[in-house]
Amino acid sequence: MSGKVLENILTPQLEELREKGLYNIIDTLEGPNGPVVKIGGKEVINMSSNNYLGLANDERLVQAAIDATKQYGVGAGAVRTINGTMTIHEELEKKIAEFKHTEAAIAFQSGFNCNMGAISAVMTKKDAILSDELNHASIIDGCRLSGAKIIRVKHQDMDDLWRAAKEAVESGAYEKIMYITDGVFSMDGDVAKLPEIVEIAETFGLLTYVDDAHGSGVMGNGAGTVKHFGLSDKIDFQIGTLSKAIGVVGGYVAGTRQLIDWLKVRARPFLFSTAMTPGSAAACIKAIDILMDSTERVDRLWENARYLKEGLKKIGFNTGQSETPITPCIIGEETVTQEFSRRLIEEGVYAKAITYPTVPKGTGRVRNMPTAGHTKEMLDQVLAVYQKVGEALSVI
Ligand SMILES: *Cc1c(COP(=O)(O)O)cnc(C)c1O
Repeated sequence: MSGKVLENILTPQLEELREKGLYNIIDTLEGPNGPVVKIGGKEVINMSSNNYLGLANDERLVQAAIDATKQYGVGAGAVRTINGTMTIHEELEKKIAEFKHTEAAIAFQSGFNCNMGAISAVMTKKDAILSDELNHASIIDGCRLSGAKIIRVKHQDMDDLWRAAKEAVESGAYEKIMYITDGVFSMDGDVAKLPEIVEIAETFGLLTYVDDAHGSGVMGNGAGTVKHFGLSDKIDFQIGTLSKAIGVVGGYVAGTRQLIDWLKVRARPFLFSTAMTPGSAAACIKAIDILMDSTERVDRLWENARYLKEGLKKIGFNTGQSETPITPCIIGEETVTQEFSRRLIEEGVYAKAITYPTVPKGTGRVRNMPTAGHTKEMLDQVLAVYQKVGEALSVI
């Protein structure tokens, strides 16, 4: 009987989504997530990954994962606090702290889990969180979980942040106030104005929390957006993911020894979810070693991004205000944007349409994620296809 109840609830909702063309059909990759991927038996140039440095299928990382798997096994066997903490996890955390120039770090199973764990470990219903309106879904959920009052701040609007911080302090209603922002915003590729944020935070005594999922491995010669601005000792929480530029899976919080000690006893995904696999931890260590050893991959990423952006502009596309390798191609109308992306894929370029409600109405875009793994030839091919499809749909 209960199956019927669920069916009655889900059937109309699924039908509605499908009718509106909002039901996302997931494409399956028939091989590794590289600069070229195979989908439906066809090879296409991949402009949709977060594999910024091409490390996701780097031989050295693969070997490190194999070696650690042989040494430690495929699973950690328990949550970290029971007996899932292995030498390799501690080694990873030491490496992250060194990489982020902080006293300590704690690793989680994902970036999403970091935000679930870290925000609610520190903030309570007696507190307020000022949150940029375009912050990532995991930040929004983490804030909700904490029970703190959530005060949305206009995107990257420092006057609004000043006003909201002043109002929150003067209300006298909160024990603590925190400001949370993405380091790099994933839809537009703009960078958080950290020097101004730190100034405002110091004026009003705010805690500061930067989720640098798209900045780590990309900004600051790889060390991230906070390092880029030289503010490593001014930001209380530095969150990063190990699944984008680092190429593996997992996430971390970097900060003071005291903060990390606290998270180890209060962050619920750390306490109640099994540790990341030893193979993943080892691959992450290898990736950070490669990053700290040389800026070659980061340099190549930026060079490729510059080449793609200039090429698209030259053809006549609007690439928005991105300050990072994230390269949106703003098409405008939602249905045209969807059609544009479909045609790109037909022509061998895999770049996904992002439309309302993920971005404001009328600003539909195809988002391109160039990586260090793309060759000039691939990017030239991407540009040729953009020109062809752009002309065919009268977008340029
Ligand atoms: C991608 C992303 C996450 C989630 O990271 P995962 O490691 O994939 O869970 C969290 N925060 C931001 C800002 C992100 O862009």
